[in-house]
Amino acid sequence: MKKIALTLVILSCFFPGINLSAQTHKVCGNMPDFDTSSAISERRHAFENAVKQTMQQGNWIFSRSPVTIPVVVHILWNKPEENVEDARIWSQIERLNLDFNAQNLDLEQVPDEFKPLMGNAGIQFCLAAQDPDGRPTNGIVRVPTEVRGIAGKLDQIYYSALGGSDAWDTERYLNIWVGDNTTDPGTATATGYSSFPWNETQANSGIIISLAAFGKNTSESWSMGRVGVHEVGHYLGLRHIWGDDSPPSCNDDDGISDTPSQFFFHFDCPDTPQQSCGNSNMYMNYMDYVDDQCMVMFSQEQCQWMNTVLALYRPGLLNSTVQCVQNPEEPLNTPFSIFPNPASRQIHLNFPGTVAEPGDILIYNALGHIVFRKFFILRSGITIDLPELASGMYFVKIGKSIEKVIIHP
Ligand SMILES: [Zn+2]
Repeated sequence: MKKIALTLVILSCFFPGINLSAQTHKVCGNMPDFDTSSAISERRHAFENAVKQTMQQGNWIFSRSPVTIPVVVHILWNKPEENVEDARIWSQIERLNLDFNAQNLDLEQVPDEFKPLMGNAGIQFCLAAQDPDGRPTNGIVRVPTEVRGIAGKLDQIYYSALGGSDAWDTERYLNIWVGDNTTDPGTATATGYSSFPWNETQANSGIIISLAAFGKNTSESWSMGRVGVHEVGHYLGLRHIWGDDSPPSCNDDDGISDTPSQFFFHFDCPDTPQQSCGNSNMYMNYMDYVDDQCMVMFSQEQCQWMNTVLALYRPGLLNSTVQCVQNPEEPLNTPFSIFPNPASRQIHLNFPGTVAEPGDILIYNALGHIVFRKFFILRSGITIDLPELASGMYFVKIGKSIEKVIIHP
């Protein structure tokens, strides 16, 4: 499946005739150079010049207080299993907060030569606690839809009347639409799409993340929610790190001076170094196409660029007074007990208090192999149906807490 997906990724990225409404890239938002409309092209150049000029005028951008962007997530579901649980939505918000604040632990993977260029965007995200009319909300809109593959249908997803979901005030909220993007088994390929500040409307400003790549999930290449990070990068004006030129060459650039020029994109998890255009390539950048576990950084100038775009083109987000849903501060520090113990095919986990925190539940066998893994909202009690396990001792791990359980099938 993965290889099929990657093949389609490449094909659809580099054949300009393919309709953008059928985006099928691993982490491809927009391909600006494929916009043949001169009006759009002019708007893009004007945008890039304005951002560059502002950046050259001074570094006032970073002198203001930290920014928190209110988010509304539209979950568009056709089958009940596509109506994902809140925990997965929280996991996407957490991933954005880690990566846009250089708090991701895997930042240490950055090769030494690029460590001095690592940036911190200093931008926070939260689920909105107020809707556009000021009414209380959890920042999640759940919409059943008759449209299959809605995430690949840009002419429908943004409109409630067409089976999608209308945006909340795009000047005050970052809208994230989530939906399946397949119409037939085996055709799942698209992972994300974003509007750019120069080619959006009030209706479609925001990002789309395909369900398969949304939040923490069990996929092979996009399991960590970094498709969302990449797309928010586009939403804040960043281009792909190789410059999007078609056919690929060393002539085009992403407009960012501290990301070395590179010929083309990378996928999977490449070895270090990767070289092209006479440079070692910063393939571990969020704006390349590598697997989630291998994209770990923004550069300093990318961070400055995004903050400048925010100030110039999305000032409503900076000045938004929308309140945030409270995010649990220590989601993975959760003591618990297990009963019954010994158990057979079902265990019940008991947590003290009435917390509602997102977290992974992992079960290891005596050899240290993971035999069960699931992401839950941890509440006062959870019942887990176990897979078929051999008799013996197992270890249930949640965050820093580990408890033993004996299984007698
Ligand atoms: Zn992209």
